Parts: sequence; structure tokens; C-alpha cells
Amino acid sequence: MALSKEPAATQVDVAVNSATNLAEVQALIAAAEQAAGRSAGDVVLVAVSKTQGAEDILPVIQAGQRLFGENRVQEAQGKWPDLKAAHPDLRLHLIGPLQTNKVKDAVALFDVIETVDRPKLARVLAKEMAKQDRRLDCFIQVNTGEEEQKAGIWPEDADAFIALVRDELGLSVRGLMCIPPVEEECSLHFALLREIAQRNGLEGLSMGMSADYEVAIQFGATLVRVGTAIFGARKPHP
Ligand SMILES: *Cc1c(COP(=O)(O)O)cnc(C)c1O
Repeated sequence: MALSKEPAATQVDVAVNSATNLAEVQALIAAAEQAAGRSAGDVVLVAVSKTQGAEDILPVIQAGQRLFGENRVQEAQGKWPDLKAAHPDLRLHLIGPLQTNKVKDAVALFDVIETVDRPKLARVLAKEMAKQDRRLDCFIQVNTGEEEQKAGIWPEDADAFIALVRDELGLSVRGLMCIPPVEEECSLHFALLREIAQRNGLEGLSMGMSADYEVAIQFGATLVRVGTAIFGARKPHP
């Protein structure tokens, strides 16, 4: 008897928690903005919903969140077309590595690509955006930790790459994005990203995740990408 009631109760708990978590994250963002002497609303929250199902995402939409991040094109295609049809003001950021054979689907579904990180990808994106007549805003991912296994343009190549993507290919580059190495002091990476953005005249800084978004705001983040602090632990990838 108790068993048969469990799923319903769990569903409700999850819904209540993610909405509460969202409010908590919003409050901490507001406090961090103020502490950094920045204006209220300076920092935009991207709720990272990777591995979460539509049923997990809906309560967060109902709580007012409109910006979401996904790291896999195929996974996003499974849940977002319906959610976007039901909520036309939703905006979706791609925050994971993009393979060129997925560019067509990514341009059709996403509103912002945060992970432009190599010339070939930038060229294919430019072509596809022209073809679909969809000019998505882009961020350039910088591999600030110079980690071999991680995506992102290396810091020393960033200026030339920004020039290629923005000036030569004409993509709408809004800023830079980074994922600091887990074992290193994140503030060094946030400061480096800000420095590269400043010297290239870019205003957007997508940096900061659940563990470090308040620090990122201190270092000028305009966009924070928060998953587990809103949705709880990630599920196995579908
Ligand atoms: C998963 C992910 C996040 C969110 O991470 P949390 O620690 O769950 O907040 C942010 N950015 C990228 C690129 C991610 O892949």
C-alpha cells in the first residue's frame, strides 16, 4: 500500500524542490550582484536541464524560468520541441561540444550556441545560419585551463579566433564562455576569461556553475549556467 503511493509523492516533492531551489539561486545571484556593486538583473541565469526529463523541467518553467541550457543536441531534440511549442518564449542555449554533423539540427532548435571553439565549426555554423536564415547569438568557448581533453580554443589563439568568427565570418559573437578545471582555483580562470573578453571588446561572460557562480559574478559573469543547484543530482544520460 505504501509502495503504490510513493511515485506520486516523489513527483510532488521534486516539483516543489526545484521551484524552491530556483528561488534560492535567484536570491543568491541578486545578493552576489549587489555585493559586487553591479545592478540588479545584470546576471542572466541559464538553468541547465541536461539529463532531466520534461516532467522535471516543467515545474521550473512554471516557476517563471525561461532560459535553459542543454549539452547534447540529440537529447535536447527529444524534449524541447514540445516544450517550446507550449511555451514560445523559452530560449535554449547549447552549452556542450558541437560536432559539425549536428550543426543543422542545432541551428534549427537552439537560440544561442555557447560552444563555438574551432574554425571548422565556425564556418559550418555561418553557412547553416545563412541557409536557415536564423542568426543565433554565439559565445566562444575558451579552454582557460589548457586541458587536452576539454573543448575550447586555447587562450593564446583566442584573439585570432574571435577575429575570424566575428569579423570575417560575421557571426553574432556576444561573449566568451569557459569551464574551469575542477581541481583549480576558479577565480584565476574567470579573471583570464574577463581579460580576453575586455581586450577584444566583448561584453558577455558565460561562467560559473552550481559550485562557483557567486564567485563568477564577482568576476563579471553576465551569464551563469546552473544545473544541480536547481534540479538536484543529474540522472544517467538518456
Ligand atoms: C552541466 C554543465 C553545467 C551545470 O553544472 P552544475 O554543476 O550542475 O551546475 C554548466 N555548464 C556546462 C558546460 C555544463 O556541461
